[in-house]
Amino acid sequence: MGEVEKTFISGLKEELVEEKVIDESQLDPNFAKEIKKYGGKDVMTCLQCGNCTGVCPISLKIDYKTRSIIKYCQFGLRTYTLGTRWVCATCYRCYEHCPADINPAEVMIALRHIAVREGVIPPFIKVAATNLVRYGQSVKPDEEINKIRKELGLGDIHTFSPDFKKVLREISVLIHASKYDKLIGIEDEVMV
Ligand code: SF4
Ligand code: SF4
Repeated sequence: MGEVEKTFISGLKEELVEEKVIDESQLDPNFAKEIKKYGGKDVMTCLQCGNCTGVCPISLKIDYKTRSIIKYCQFGLRTYTLGTRWVCATCYRCYEHCPADINPAEVMIALRHIAVREGVIPPFIKVAATNLVRYGQSVKPDEEINKIRKELGLGDIHTFSPDFKKVLREISVLIHASKYDKLIGIEDEVMV
């Protein structure tokens, strides 16, 4: 697990331990509706059965419990959901085992949408977005691997090919036109 996730999760833990009493002012009655707006299902229909936590590969390993996150969403506890949404692997196991047909994976994605709009963006997301603009993929291509490919008589990784510049330009135009660059804070990377 990266430092960002560790910080986010330990931050959540501290908050829960130290602030056991939840003040009414922390509850957002419109939060469930907002989650639906960004593609999540109605969290208010969750039965709190815990199946999602039981099958979640992340919940089994770290202090991230899918059922609890859905409960926080029901209560409208925005801040309690801030740090956890980024560790979901979107494997959809929770969806397969949910008797209420909620899709926690898409709730987590909706939470990420909300977080980004609130400016809560972990640095690794910005790095991935920057890589997308620079290389056309979220992971920086490995020059060493490209070297080995050449030694083996294989072509360049597409990113290193001169023809790929046109594709990168198209990616930049799309990112700029959709205002994704502004949303994620990478305007300086996008040259249009
Ligand atoms: S499996 Fe579905 S109904 Fe059960 S706690 Fe998880 S989201 Fe709620
Ligand atoms: S989609 Fe996310 S919350 Fe659901 S089981 Fe996979 S890792 Fe857990």
